[in-house]
Amino acid sequence: MIRAKGVVSAVVLFALLTIVFQTLEVRAAQISRSSEGAPGVTTQSDADFYAAANEVLQAMSQILALPVKSPLRESIRTKAQIREYLVEQQDKEESPQKRYADRRTLEAFGLIPKGFPLDSFLLDLLTDQVAGLYDPQKKEFYIASWISPGDQKPVMAHELTHALDDQYFHLDKWQKAVRNNDDASLARDAVIEGSAVASMMDYTLADLHTNVRELPDIAPFIESSVADEMDKDPNLAKAPPFVRDELLFPYLEGAKFTQKVLKANGSWADFQKVFKNPPASTQQILHPDLYFQHVKPEQVDLPHLKSAIPQDYVQLDENVVGEFALGEVLRQFLGPGDAEKFAPMWRGDRYALFEDKDTKQTILVVLLALDNDSDAGSFFEAYSKALTNKDSLKTPMVQGQGFVAFDDVFLSCVRSRCLSVEGADRRTFDRIGHQLGWPAQARVSGAVFAEAPASGNSR
Ligand SMILES: [Zn+2]
Repeated sequence: MIRAKGVVSAVVLFALLTIVFQTLEVRAAQISRSSEGAPGVTTQSDADFYAAANEVLQAMSQILALPVKSPLRESIRTKAQIREYLVEQQDKEESPQKRYADRRTLEAFGLIPKGFPLDSFLLDLLTDQVAGLYDPQKKEFYIASWISPGDQKPVMAHELTHALDDQYFHLDKWQKAVRNNDDASLARDAVIEGSAVASMMDYTLADLHTNVRELPDIAPFIESSVADEMDKDPNLAKAPPFVRDELLFPYLEGAKFTQKVLKANGSWADFQKVFKNPPASTQQILHPDLYFQHVKPEQVDLPHLKSAIPQDYVQLDENVVGEFALGEVLRQFLGPGDAEKFAPMWRGDRYALFEDKDTKQTILVVLLALDNDSDAGSFFEAYSKALTNKDSLKTPMVQGQGFVAFDDVFLSCVRSRCLSVEGADRRTFDRIGHQLGWPAQARVSGAVFAEAPASGNSR
């Protein structure tokens, strides 16, 4: 799956607190971690903590126009306890086989280095970054003990937004309704987290008699403040770009999306409609106008691949890439400019990953739908360059109109669709093309057998 997370749910990251304070341009310097490991970590009493939680709950209920339906449990947790919870979640949410498949998929797309210890890396990163979390199963929210009492309230505002949303929209169920579509699932995460970032800002802005809807575009604030904070956390700083971007996507892109919805509709009461009519894709989060215009992704179905793939291979994974993750692939192998130009041409996709039982070699099949034939033409050029960079390919064996073949990497575009197959031989690729009903000549006709250039100019 094109999701690195699996262990994160309804948490707030420490790095995000800077958004609140830097947007306000106040007390950015005051954000601090309590002296960790000290006994009685925070100086406040239990009574103070519960009083603060109750005060914030009432405030959030008013901001969000969601009356409290049932009481909540809250507690302060140490880093060790938060880690324990995250490990438990990791085990409960996904089997080891599924986690293996997820890791292999990210490797196959080139989004994490081969053999990257994704699970333990995320666990370490989150143990350090989780400032608070809401457990929808136990209906309880936790605040990390190392958050100083002065910073607790915005964290509470964020977590209590989840708690109130949960009382009305049953977040766990709402999220799991799209568990077979990673792209739609990331889009729903962006609604949950982005709205909780925006409401957390509203809570803090209340003293200044303003709110997120009234503010100018929050995107620049968010981007600069989080980028600063990134570099301070050694784990975030060394995270593969995709892992970092995906972790932050729900918060950052989700907050921008929330602001657009609030500006278009007016109030938090109107925003709740988003839970009833959720965005279908990360594309709708990235381009809220497409959400407003109900532009949904095209459903793409893979052909019957089992008969096309060599027998020694088993299918590990099948899912949707989506505009966000496609943009990450293009960013990684072409750069940010091309990613911004070509990823929005995405209209839908489906991919599958197969693994050889013995050699562990993989075959990755991706079928993409682009906006139109002309976009598919320019996408072909860009994507073949991305594949060349990704797989360190040299000279194509065969090259033609909308078709390029390297040793074991193939890309072919017919009308508005593009098929890439990585890790397979030519016969396998041809069988998949045949399954798609693509005319054979579209795959080979017009092909010129490129001679290897004598020197240079190999790309
Ligand atoms: Zn959250």
